Amino acid sequence: MTRDPNPVSDFPVRFVLFEPTHPGNVGAAARAIKTMGFSDLVVVNPACEIDGVARARSSGALDVLLAARVVPTLAEAIEGCGFVVGASARRRKLAWPELDPRACAAEVVASSRRRPVAIVFGAERAGLTNTEMDRCNALVYIPTNPDYGSLNLAMAVQIIAYEVRGAIGVDGPSDEEDGSREEGDGVPAAAGNVELFYEHLQRVLIDSGFLRPDNPRVLMRRLRRLFNRARLDERELNIMRGILSSLAPGSGRSPSATDDPDANE
Ligand code: SAH
Repeated sequence: MTRDPNPVSDFPVRFVLFEPTHPGNVGAAARAIKTMGFSDLVVVNPACEIDGVARARSSGALDVLLAARVVPTLAEAIEGCGFVVGASARRRKLAWPELDPRACAAEVVASSRRRPVAIVFGAERAGLTNTEMDRCNALVYIPTNPDYGSLNLAMAVQIIAYEVRGAIGVDGPSDEEDGSREEGDGVPAAAGNVELFYEHLQRVLIDSGFLRPDNPRVLMRRLRRLFNRARLDERELNIMRGILSSLAPGSGRSPSATDDPDANE
């Protein structure tokens, strides 16, 4: 099965930097969005050259930086977008619906299925004024220390880009074979088999003298808790039973460790 190398690229999400003043932040923002699979960077009326410092800070995202569009106005940056969010360290609840990064990301992803979405970030000092916010449908605020909540511009971009990637949902646990999986790996052990294992364990512990048959309850309960927490899969259960058999042959019918060539891996 071939996998789309970057499923995030199917979602038209544009990152807009409004009048940034530090080239390093522009480069770092390019890097931030590329690491999350995005590539659409627009810079509005920068108050700095996008120079060697920007290129150095973009690191492996030089392609994204070089492809960034520089436009004179916010209106041009958000042209064609159906949903525009302004990222702000200052909360202005009364005028704009405020979203936290996760809720914002969910709306961004949903909306981007219909039209491109823009997320606008303000300048290092000034942030976004109400004039820019007037062009936004919502405000996203990253919860921070109430005494000092102003993130570095590129770091704010990173957090939002990360959340949008998460909302796209491309990073679930890998279900790809790594070549070392065997039958029973990852298949949760069936309750009946787990019960047989506990019986087997109890027999071995009684035979060894570790468990007093007159009062097995507490220890067995603790051991059950330990193994139940681990949520053994079929293969692990077989290994455990194989170990018990090897310690006390004849104590219970079970697969032997030799049934499992990787038991000693
Ligand atoms: N002094 C400015 C902060 C600018 S920080 C102000 O008061 O707005 C540069 C940009 O990073 C901000 O305009 C915003 O887009 C983003 N940013 C920084 N901290 C943020 C936060 N806590 N939540 C959302 N965006 C933030």
